[in-house]
Formats: sequence, C-alpha cells, structure tokens
Amino acid sequence: MSLELVAVAVPVPLYKTFDYLVPARMRGRLQPGMRLKVPFGRRQLVGVALEAPREAGADTEGYRHVEELLDEEALLSREVLGLARWAADYYRHPPGEVMSALLPGPLRRGQPAQLPEDPGLRLTRSGAAALGELPSRKKNLRKLLQTLGPGPLPRSALPRGPALALALESGWIETVPATALPFALAETPPELTPEQAAALAGLQAARGFDVALLQGVTGSGKTELYLRRVAEVLERGGQALVLAPEIGLTPQLVERLVQRFGEGVAAFHSGMSEAERGKSWLRARSGAARVVVGTRSAVFLPFIRLELIVIDEEHDPSYKQQEGFRYSARDVAVLRAQRLGIPLILGSATPALESLHNAGAGRYRRIELSARVGRGAPPQVQALDLRGQLLQHGLSEPLLGKVQQHLDAGGQALLFINRRGYAPMLVCHDCGWMAACQHCDARMTLHRGRRRLVCHHCGAQQPTPSRCGGCGGSKLLPVGEGTERIEDALRNRFPMVRTERFDSDRLARKGELEKLLADIRSGDIRILVGTQILAKGHDFPGLSLVGIVSADQALYGADFRAVERMGQLVTQVAGRAGRSAGIEGDSAPTAEVLLQTHEPQHPALLRLITGGYPALAELLLAEREAAGLPPYSHLALLRAESMDAELPLRFLAAARELLAPHAADVMLSDPVPALMERRGGYVRAQLLLQSTSRAALQKVLAAGVTRLDGLPDARKVRWSVDVDPADLF
Ligand code: ADP
Ligand code: ZN
Ligand code: ZN
Repeated sequence: MSLELVAVAVPVPLYKTFDYLVPARMRGRLQPGMRLKVPFGRRQLVGVALEAPREAGADTEGYRHVEELLDEEALLSREVLGLARWAADYYRHPPGEVMSALLPGPLRRGQPAQLPEDPGLRLTRSGAAALGELPSRKKNLRKLLQTLGPGPLPRSALPRGPALALALESGWIETVPATALPFALAETPPELTPEQAAALAGLQAARGFDVALLQGVTGSGKTELYLRRVAEVLERGGQALVLAPEIGLTPQLVERLVQRFGEGVAAFHSGMSEAERGKSWLRARSGAARVVVGTRSAVFLPFIRLELIVIDEEHDPSYKQQEGFRYSARDVAVLRAQRLGIPLILGSATPALESLHNAGAGRYRRIELSARVGRGAPPQVQALDLRGQLLQHGLSEPLLGKVQQHLDAGGQALLFINRRGYAPMLVCHDCGWMAACQHCDARMTLHRGRRRLVCHHCGAQQPTPSRCGGCGGSKLLPVGEGTERIEDALRNRFPMVRTERFDSDRLARKGELEKLLADIRSGDIRILVGTQILAKGHDFPGLSLVGIVSADQALYGADFRAVERMGQLVTQVAGRAGRSAGIEGDSAPTAEVLLQTHEPQHPALLRLITGGYPALAELLLAEREAAGLPPYSHLALLRAESMDAELPLRFLAAARELLAPHAADVMLSDPVPALMERRGGYVRAQLLLQSTSRAALQKVLAAGVTRLDGLPDARKVRWSVDVDPADLF
C-alpha cells in the first residue's frame, strides 16, 4: 500500500505548511479541517489539516507521522479553511498562526470539541406511531409526544424529566439544530418610517453577493434595518453575523437582538472568558447560534449557514488588527460575503473614504438615511474662533458661557477632547526643559490624579518631578490640555452640577461605564468630558450642547488619515447631541455643536462646518487622488525595529534589494526612520510599498516576504509586514 502525506498548518511563525505521513490507522478518516497532533522539533503541536491526504511519492524519507487525530469530523469547513488561507496569503502572515488565531483557546490547545446539544426536538415517525399505542397511564410521555405533534420545538419549551429522556432513548423524538426550529419574533417591531421603508427595500434588492453602504446618522434607524434583514435570514433558517468595532458596544446590540429574537443570539469578543468564547464558537459551528454579535475576530467564526454579514460603524479603525496577524475585518468580511454569495451591509454615519470610493465606483450600493427617527437631522457644527480669545485651561469664555446657558435651560453639555491625562507636556518656565520619555521620542503626559508622568506610547511611568530636570528650578508648568484638566476646569467653574470624565483611565473598572451612562440618562450628570469613548454608539437624549475643545492638531497630523479621522470623530460626537426643539413635551434648548479652533479658515474645517462629513469626504478624496494615496493606490508597509540603531535601516535596505526585481508597477520607498523613531527603547524604521494595482503589490509581497527570513539581519531585528496599513507610524 502506498503511503499518504497531508499538508498541515502548524502554529509556528514560518511562512509555510508542513507535510506529515498519515499512519495506516487514520487512513480514510483524515479530512481537511481536522485538528491533528503532530511532532515538531522536540515538541508536539496542534495543527490543522489543510487538504485531503495525497499519495506520497516513492521518497518518504524525513517525513514524520501524524500522532493523533483530535477530531472525528472536520472542525473547520472548507469555506473557513479557504477564507483563512486567503487571509494568510493576502496579509502575508504565517498560515499556521492564522489557523490557530481562528480557534478559541481550548480548541487551540487540543481539547475535544464538544458541540452543544441541539436546542430543538422533533417527533420521529416511530414516535408518531408509538403515540397511538401508549397506555393512557403514561401521561407525561403521551403529553410530550402530543406537544411535538405539530412540529419541532425548542427544548426550553418542554418539561425536562424522565419522559423526555425515555422518548429520546426510544427514538420517538430526535434533536434538531436551531435553524430547523420555527422562527418567531420575540417582540413586535416598530413600524418603519417612510425613509426606513425605502432604505429597507433598497437593501432587499440585493441578489447574491452584494455590498450595501448604509449611510445614516446615529439614531437614524440603521440598527432597526439590520434587525429586519437579520429576521429575514433567520426565517429561512440561515445565520447572521453582526460586527461592532469594540467590546463596549456589543452589549447594547446583543440586548436588542435578544429582545427581538429571543434565544439563539450569541456574543463573541475578547471581553469574554476563553471558555465562553469557545462556547459561542461551537454554537456558531453547530447552528445553535443563529445570530452572533462580535468584534473583529468574529469574522472568522465557523458558521454552517451564514447568509448575512452586518458591519456597524464600518469606518472604525478598530476593525484593523494592529499587531501580529494584521487583517482588516471589514475587508475579510467583503471577501467572505463574496465567496459565499451573500449580502453584506456596511453601516456608518461617516463611512471610510475607501467605502465611499467603492460606492462611487459602483462596487457598493449606497443607501441613505438622512433624518433621525422622530427627530430632525443633528445640528450643524459651528466654528468658534479662538484667535485673540482668552483661554482658561483651553476653554474660551464664549464656550463656557454656552455651557452655562444650556445648563440653565435644563440641558446637558459634552466636552470632547481626544487626549487623556491632565496635560501633554510638563515644561520648565525658567529654561524650557520638557519632561521626555527615556524610551521614546515623545513627551510624558502629566496625570495629576495619579501624580505621575506617563508615556502614552510605551506606558513608562514616573512620579511627577518637583524640580526641573535641566536647571533644577521649581516652576514646572503643565502645557496643553487633556481630559483631566478640562474636567477640573469645569468642576471649578460649575461647582453646583455633577461633571464626569469618560476616558479609559476613569472607566478601567468593569461596569463603571454602564453606571455612569445610567446617571447621564437620569440627568444626574450634567456635564460630560471625554475622549472618543463618548463618540461611539451611545445615545444621550438630554444632551443639548457639544463642545469640541480642539481639532486643530489633526489638521497637521502626520498621518495621511488624520483629517478623515478628525471629521469622523467630530461628526460622531456631534451626533450625540440629543433632542432638538420640537419633540413633544420637550423643554430642552435647541441642540448646538461648537468647535473651538485657531484655524476657522482651514479648507478642511470649512468643508466640515458648511457641508458636514460628506462635503469633507469629497474634498479629502480629491486630495487623495491628487497625491496618489489610498483609496487611489494600495499600500504595504515593511517595518523593522531593534535596540541597535543601525540595524533596522540596514535590514530594510537589504529587503529593498530583495524586493526590487519583483516590483513591477510598485513603488518602493527608501528605508526611512519611523515618524517616532524611538519607541519603548526600540529604534524603528520602515519601507513603504505603493501601487495603483493591488495585484502588482500582492505579487511583489508574494515573491519577497517569505524570503526576508533569510536575510542576514532578519533574526536580529523585529520585522513585520502590514498590508493596507491603517496608519504609517
Ligand atoms: P441607529 O442604529 O442608526 O443609531 P437605531 O436603529 O438604533 O438607529 O434607532 C434609533 C432609535 O429609534 C432606537 O431607540 C430605535 O429603537 C428607535 N427606532 C428605530 N426605528 C424606529 C421606528 N421605525 N419607529 C420607532 N422607533 C424606531
Ligand atoms: Zn528648567
Ligand atoms: Zn515611552
């Protein structure tokens, strides 16, 4: 009998798969998608079979044997395997690591995959026959079989007990997956507004693979439309995936889905324990989970019948993983939908320029919701010219006056500043010395509450010095503002009302955000100060004033996406402003959004203020096109870092030489120091690859990246490839 070999993805940081011999006892049983225990060096690792075993040639020397089959049936379907292999290729990440990133912890370590018990039960033919012959004293059993007569029911609807166990054992009833259960809504959905109804009809026009860009401000009823589309899928016995950018936003979505659909809703995100995640994973795999709400990594879940993907806040940078396997969940979702031939909905008030560009080019269908349900459009952003104004801790008198006015009228105010801490700089008034991080090319941020200086780039901390590190003087001034400082200033100015800060320092404790959100809704908290945490998802009906402390920094941000992000954040924060005048019984003042700036004439700000995000996006797209930047070109970034200052540039120079011969239609930059050259003690450099053709870019990466390992300095530097990087730092 000839021998067989199987290609296995082994979780090691190498750009290849490994062939193993299939022992005779596994013949005929081994299928692609099963986990295998394989020897690797002196270790034993859990790998995944990528393909069906194939005939080995005559020469089988040097191959080792698969030691154990860990699954009785394929754990990963061909569809999921194919998706993972595509992602490993596209993002140039070792296939074994990608495969193992797909598995929840317990399964990655080789634990048995226990599929959850099927949630439904149904009468079998022999059960129907038995029903006629059962003696009447078997009351419980008869009742059980009778209940199941008309059709399958969820287990939870039936009394557990000896009758159920006996019926199962006798083969009178059998289990069925959730997808086979009759579908019923757990609540009556609201009647759609005419605008929503039109948008839903637009979504329903999808046939097969289709990407709909659903653009609508917060509160315009996007989620309601997701629910409608999900319901259609569930009625057909399909499954749906709803992605949210971050953990904080999943509970609200889960809650709404549970309210609407009852059981069969599962969550999947990193805030859950490994065991919980493993359970959701297996429920997606068995069909017990009909809808999964998850963050980024849920895009790889092993659904058996996925028929719809929804990506909420599709512009959010969190969809791109920033380390290790650097995939974009949004882009993987597009590919998955395409391979499955199913619709995808991208929802946002402020779509990414990439998505707008795709819509403009006819690849996505744009569907709009312009008004908020029951209210008008959110207020326009107005500029507040800071030039010549007296500032107190970064706040101008006109803005403070507005806060007072809104408080007096019974409203709530939100002050947005996207920087934590008290001040981003501590400066000596005598000699100009600044507290800098020892490990980074960056200044330390003063955190007054903790009495420490903290580096926001590497996390280094030290007690706040009382003396200047240059001249020994004692006049150390905090310069610039962070959330703590704005909070302080507002507490001093408005001592009679409750002011609270919302940033990751303040909200570190679990459940803290929920508590504070309740206090906002009850009106107990009147002034909110916060970072982008406040920009996302939450609706504050009583909020009447939004003040943006500063957006000027972004106008000169080093990254090419800085202004796009600023426009998205400002628009999202502005969308928090709740009721404008006109709601029944509403006495709150008309909502206003004020943006403090020293640059009211800046073209990007002018656009944002006069035409909102769509107008800004149009300007930015034109700028990107002129500069040949994404979405008008495609980028990949090769990064290298080392403690040794020479090495990163030297490695990248060698890498460039290796890539150059394959770089047809791809521009290779010279290796350059990173914008922040030193971070966390490492000296960093990068090389940019740019092309108008995705295929050409992929070609040079395919030819070159796997060989970078062989360069002389490859083991002395930490290097990585980032395809479609979110930023160029
Ligand atoms: P978005 O996802 O765009 O922020 P939602 O779907 O969450 O918008 O809708 C905003 C609010 O309006 C929610 O409280 C939702 O329950 C409610 N809502 C949405 N559509 C309707 C409707 N047709 N009738 C009544 N209330 C609605
Ligand atoms: Zn000094
Ligand atoms: Zn640092």
